[in-house]
Amino acid sequence: MEDFVKQNIELVRSSIPRIDDVELVVVSKFQPEEKILEAYNANQRIFAESRVQELYRKSQGLPKDIKWHFIGHLQTNKVKQLLSIENLELIQSVDSTRLLDAIDHTAAEYGITTHILIEINVTQDANKTGMHVVDTLNYFKHKGYHNLKATHIHGIMGMASNSDDRRLVQHDFIHLKRIFDEIRNMCEDLNGFNTLSMGMSGDYLLAIEEGSNMVRIGSLIFGDRKK
Ligand SMILES: *Cc1c(COP(=O)(O)O)cnc(C)c1O
Repeated sequence: MEDFVKQNIELVRSSIPRIDDVELVVVSKFQPEEKILEAYNANQRIFAESRVQELYRKSQGLPKDIKWHFIGHLQTNKVKQLLSIENLELIQSVDSTRLLDAIDHTAAEYGITTHILIEINVTQDANKTGMHVVDTLNYFKHKGYHNLKATHIHGIMGMASNSDDRRLVQHDFIHLKRIFDEIRNMCEDLNGFNTLSMGMSGDYLLAIEEGSNMVRIGSLIFGDRKK
């Protein structure tokens, strides 16, 4: 069992077609630091967490060349603590313009640039987080990003419906890709808008087929989470 995590990472890596074009983000939420270190020792450097407090604590104790991503629902009152983490690379889960403004405000105050993805909900599940498609397209159509002082939007993140129906899951990924392309075509001045984060343990191969270039994988690497 010793190299369980390492073996799983290597299996996942070797299963990804076009590995040079697809970023593997290892989701380490609820995993202890020693498990994260096993992945680190298998040369993994990008990890994602879904709670600010937990990410903050782990970032203190773990190697500083880890690049952290945030993928959870972010409350505006936690933005300051999140942005104080030095090796935070990307906030993938910006799900409202209000949150985006709060991030931009804090980043400007701290004198840093924050890198983010807009999370979009394309599913029928209203309980899922993410901006509505119409609101997102309106934001880009009206060039809302021109008002940002210290935030760079690199792309979009989304989840497919939680379903065994592969056609429904595929449909959600196609939808996300279409929105991604539409924004790119509409906003030629949006430099570096090139990340489409979609696909998790159960559906990442399908997501890559439909154009994902960033996958977020947890349980396939660490086993089931004990929450
Ligand atoms: C937990 C989580 C994942 C990883 O899910 P697995 O099924 O364990 O791979 C990916 N993305 C988001 C947004 C998550 O919250």
